[in-house]
Amino acid sequence: MSETPVDWDSLTFSITETDNMYIAKTAIDEPWAPGNMLPYGNITISPAAGVINYGQGLFEGLKAYRTAAGRVVLFRPEENARRMQRGADRLKMPPVPESIFIDAVEQCVQQNSRWIPPMGKGALYVRPLLNGSGAVLGVAPAPEYTFMVYVTPVGPYFKGGMNCIDLLISDEHHRAAPGGSGGVKAIGNYAPGMMPSKKAKSKGFAEVIYLDAEHHKYIEEVGAANFFCYKEGILYTPELTGTILPGITRDSLIQLARKMGVEVVETKVSHELAMSADEAFCCGTAAVISPIGSITLGENKATYSDGNTPGELTIKLYNALTNIQNEIDEDVLGWVHPVPGI
Ligand SMILES: *Cc1c(COP(=O)(O)O)cnc(C)c1O
Repeated sequence: MSETPVDWDSLTFSITETDNMYIAKTAIDEPWAPGNMLPYGNITISPAAGVINYGQGLFEGLKAYRTAAGRVVLFRPEENARRMQRGADRLKMPPVPESIFIDAVEQCVQQNSRWIPPMGKGALYVRPLLNGSGAVLGVAPAPEYTFMVYVTPVGPYFKGGMNCIDLLISDEHHRAAPGGSGGVKAIGNYAPGMMPSKKAKSKGFAEVIYLDAEHHKYIEEVGAANFFCYKEGILYTPELTGTILPGITRDSLIQLARKMGVEVVETKVSHELAMSADEAFCCGTAAVISPIGSITLGENKATYSDGNTPGELTIKLYNALTNIQNEIDEDVLGWVHPVPGI
């Protein structure tokens, strides 16, 4: 093993192979038992596996950080465990118990600790997967399930200050429909977004904003991130009606804003409201917060401030959340989960 596995300063959000990964398997209708750590590497799978034929699969994403207190911590990992359980229900898979999920994540962080970037240089991204790995020919739940966790070091999202992003509202595509699977991290929700996203990027936008599939009027999400806008002292975010992924960053920012005394309204957020707001941002584990510089819909373009200056509340929320994650501020809400033994 090398002394310095990576050049911490050149890390991006991409895959670096690490040392060890976690795997547990169970038969349908059998309870989960704790799995094993194995060397990181390729897996074998039946050509008839439910996941590669019918998309019976879920993913999660969270980060382990080295903090100012000299510890390694996870941020609200119980919420990832619970979200994966809700997804498992929706995709007819056996839910992984929270204790097994957390134990798997902790073991992966512990057994790959040399890959955790120094504080400020990024984080160890943790990727849990649950899928129907057993062979099944007809469209039906697979007979066997695999729960896996791997990790990879990732760089800080913003190197040298927050960048504002330009977004395009899609007038052609939707991410999710009422009654569908948009509210869970089902793997099948993501590939259909690649074409619209690529197209927007080729026109110079950072991502697409999806409107609701019923009225084509209300903002749902920004690619795979949640949306917020701030207007006349009120922070708005699309309400969770089943088509929006309930982000843990979203929930954390709602709580932090309320603690600051900001009124937060979860409601239907029309594109008119968003495009007349004073500030806008999107959020998720990868970037925490990305300030939005402009939103374009057809011929109309709304620019926030000068288009490249994050709003005051946006910065305040970013600092409040990252200061808790980095253990600079006291964790009064009990969100930080130290990983023992490292
Ligand atoms: C994962 C994800 C988010 C962000 O969720 P976090 O828990 O904050 O990382 C938002 N939208 C979609 C579609 C996602 O898949």
